This record gives sequence, C-alpha cells and structure tokens, in this order.
Amino acid sequence: MTLLKLHINDVFTKKLPADPALENTRRQVAQACFSYVTPKKTSAPELLHHSPEMLKELGLTEADAQSDLFLKVFTGNELLPNSRPYAMCYGGHQFGSWAGQLGDGRAINLAEVQQDQKIWALQLKGAGETPYSRTADGLAVLRSSLREYLCSEAMHHLGVPTTRALSLALSGDQVLRDVLYNGNPAYEKGAIVCRAAPSFLRFGSYEIFASRNDTATLKTLVDYTVERHFPHLGAPSKTTYLHFFREVGQRSMEMVMHWQRVGFVHGVMNTDNMSILGLTIDYGPYGWLEGYDPGWTPNTTDRVHKRYRYGTQPQLVLWNLYKLANALYPLIGEAAPLEAILAQLQQDLETSHLNMMRSKLGLQKPERSDAKLITDLESVLQATETDMTLFYRQLSHFTAQGGDSGLAAIQMAFYAPEEVVGDVRAQWEAWFLAYRERLQKEDRKDRERAAAMNAVNPKYVLRNYMAQMAIDAAEQGDVTVLDELFQLLKKPYDEQLPHEKWYAKRPEWARNKVGCSMLSCSS
Ligand code: AMP
Ligand code: MG
Repeated sequence: MTLLKLHINDVFTKKLPADPALENTRRQVAQACFSYVTPKKTSAPELLHHSPEMLKELGLTEADAQSDLFLKVFTGNELLPNSRPYAMCYGGHQFGSWAGQLGDGRAINLAEVQQDQKIWALQLKGAGETPYSRTADGLAVLRSSLREYLCSEAMHHLGVPTTRALSLALSGDQVLRDVLYNGNPAYEKGAIVCRAAPSFLRFGSYEIFASRNDTATLKTLVDYTVERHFPHLGAPSKTTYLHFFREVGQRSMEMVMHWQRVGFVHGVMNTDNMSILGLTIDYGPYGWLEGYDPGWTPNTTDRVHKRYRYGTQPQLVLWNLYKLANALYPLIGEAAPLEAILAQLQQDLETSHLNMMRSKLGLQKPERSDAKLITDLESVLQATETDMTLFYRQLSHFTAQGGDSGLAAIQMAFYAPEEVVGDVRAQWEAWFLAYRERLQKEDRKDRERAAAMNAVNPKYVLRNYMAQMAIDAAEQGDVTVLDELFQLLKKPYDEQLPHEKWYAKRPEWARNKVGCSMLSCSS
C-alpha cells in the first residue's frame, strides 16, 4: 500500500529543539520549537471527503484513500510507521495586543512528507489536547472543519496561496460548543481535517522567542527557515535575514492582494495566523463579500472594532509585518534597513492594488486616470447593495463601442434594483461613461478583454450560505452538497452551465442567519 511508502522526512523535529517534557499537560514551553504529542483516539471515525488533487500531490492513490489505514491515520487513530507527531510552539499578537504563548492547541503535525521535490507537513486539526491547548479541548466541530476543508481547496483553485486540505472526517465523538458565546452550549459532531503545507510556521513562531529574549533559539529557527524554505537566499547572515524579511513581506502582500481580488475576508488576521510562507492559513470565521462593503467582517467577535474588515486587510498585513520585523530585529541589530523594507512594501501596496484593480476592469495599459476610475467605482458600488462577484463577472459583457448604459449588463448584481434610480442611477451612468471612454484607449478587442477579465474575476466563490448549506446537509449525514460545491469550486473561472444556480445573489433567508452572515470564533 502506497500509504506506507509515503516518503517521511521529519526535518523540522530533527533540526529544531524539542520540549524535553513528554506529558500532555498545559504549560509554558521554553527554548523549544515543539512538543511531542499523541493524537487522541476517536470513538467512531468516518471519512466524509478527501481531495483527489491533494492525494496526488502526496503520491497517493484512490485505493489508499479508501483504505482502513487512511481513515485511521488521518483521524489520529494509528500512526504512520517512523513518524512521531508534534505540536508547534508559537505566540502571537491577537487583535492588536501581545497574547503570549499560543501554540498548536488543537493541531497535531503527523509528519513531513517529501514528494516530487516538494515538502508537505501533514497536520490534523481537532485531534486532541496538546501542551498548548490552554483552556480548551483540542477538538474541532464539523461545521468549522468542513469550512476549512472546502475553502482551502477552493482558494487553491482560485490561484490564491493557501494551505491545503487532504481529508475531512468525523471523529464519532460529541464536542461541546457555545456558538454565539451567549451561555447556550450544545453538543455538536466532532471532526478532524488533515491539512497540508510546506510548513505551518507563523509570524508568531518567531515572535515567541524574541518576546522571551531567547535570541539563540530565534536564530536557530530563522536559519532553519531560510535553509529549508528560502534556500535561494543563500547562507544565513544579516543580509540574508533582511532578504528573508523582504520576501516574506512580498509574499504576504501578494497573498492579501489575491484576497482583495476575490473578495475573501479572513476575519482573524492575528500574527499567529500569518504564515511565514505567505499562505492563507487558519480558516476560522472567514467570509466572502456579497454586497460590496469595505467595512464588512464576518467575525462577530470583531464586530465592534472591525479590525479585520475587508478594506483594511492589506494594512493589517503590514501591521503584522512590523511585528515580524520586531521579532527579527535581535538578529539584525539595526532598525533602519527593516524600516526601509517596510516603507517600500507600503509603497508597493498602492501600486499592486492599482494593478490588481486594473486587471479586474480589464485594463491593460496603465493610465494616470485609472486611480480615479477605481475610487469612483468603489464608491458607486456602495451606493446600493451590489454583489461583488456578480458585478465583476457581468462587467465583462460591457462593450467599448456599444450604446447601452452598462446597467443592463450588471442588473443581476443589485440586491434592491428598485434603488437604482435618481442619484444612484446617475452615479452609475457617469461611471460607465468614464469606463467606456477609458476602454476606448485600449487596443484590445472586447472579446479578448472579456476573456482576460474572466480569468481574474471568479464566477463561483464559496458564498457564506453555500458553506452553510453543505454543513446543514452534512450534519444530517448527507455529503452531496459538500461534494457538489467541492467539484464546482475546482473551476471557479469557468462557465459551468449545470451549476448555474450557484451564480446568483445570496438568498434573502441567508441575510442574517448564523453561519451565513455572522460567524463566531467558536469552532
Ligand atoms: P485561532 O483563533 O483558531 O487561530 O486560535 C488561537 C489559538 O487558540 C491557537 O493557539 C489555537 O491552537 C488555540 N485553539 C483554538 N481552538 C482551540 C481548541 N478547541 N482547543 C485548543 N486550543 C484551541
Ligand atoms: Mg490560529
């Protein structure tokens, strides 16, 4: 069986200092990057879904996925030979404040696998307590696990850098959760996702050692990261650390620009949820913009300050990078070069935002006036509730030469079409006029422009209510909706006529429903 032939190569645990304590008690772990732990046995594991794409990445076959061993390994009930699971130690800034040690409280790394020159760390989420579980149980429920499983694979197919998911399973155990944090805890189905990434190191993995003035372990970890994951930067040195910081900055900014492009709101961009590889990581109370609104966040825990709302995500990545710069400072000893990199990133942010927006509008040749066209669009999009995904997708039907006002093309994106009168209508008409004039300066044919736009403006995204429909069905033991969405979201930019029903506005019943418009961190 190929599962047993997985090429396990546990470099992380070999190269980095381990916590000498082996008992599974919650504690502060000093001078160590991880603790060895054992996943909890589950009472009646059941595989709900697996990703064929991720299976292939690992060199596994469908037969492997059907095997009893696969189920046991990816629910933590059996260990792969020659593997020794571990939980990683990290800290983080949560909602702007230093939170101290956090760590993998319910994630357990099974092993690192080497396949086709790629490294894949395989991690179970929801497989039981670790020394980092603090006051919680180390478990995960079906709704949040399904959301992570489905969305991380969907993001991959959208071309957004992300951690991946291999499998989704039920544990067979009941897990107590107070979804709305209002004193109404209830039992839910426990679940386990096996997720995969070249590394699960986060900004907080470095911050924890800097916060403890443990420069020796910090250096060991940074050198390891550079040598293993950024080998093109050369041997570790002060200059290499600066190059490393710049590259992490660039990758993170690239990631967040993709989020802005597709309308993804992470919801909890704490520094412990920022991957050092620039991958979208830790899918919690995330959401997708429906009506375009820069002030929107799906995270109810953040509803007062809205720190992690759609419109501020790029600035928040920069904020997180400042924290990473502080953490790396002890190895560099000079603030100026780090500040210079941050200043450059801030400047590049504006350019890359402009370029991303140009691509959404199908503009090939930059013009000075584009910035105004884009700000005007961002404002008219908020004049009446307008669905972001439908708007951009429909926009490709607008032609440079035609005589229409443009409103017909995007009509289906309006949640309240009756509001598109008077001032609102005039604003839209003015914008389309400016857009048409702008398009006339391009020498691309309408058809070519439409094709380019449809390659960056997805037709199908995982709308909040869609994930909830998959959850509601899966709770009843029916995974057909999950599977349908999983297949649909593999080709988010394609016309998929049999799936046309998913190319629609959020239904009214989902407007204020928990799980559809409001999500808590409870998972
Ligand atoms: P998150 O907000 O999901 O990024 O989690 C923040 C921290 O809380 C991380 O250290 C998690 O490992 C930990 N955590 C979240 N949920 C649980 C849980 N159910 N049991 C143990 N630790 C958890
Ligand atoms: Mg997290």
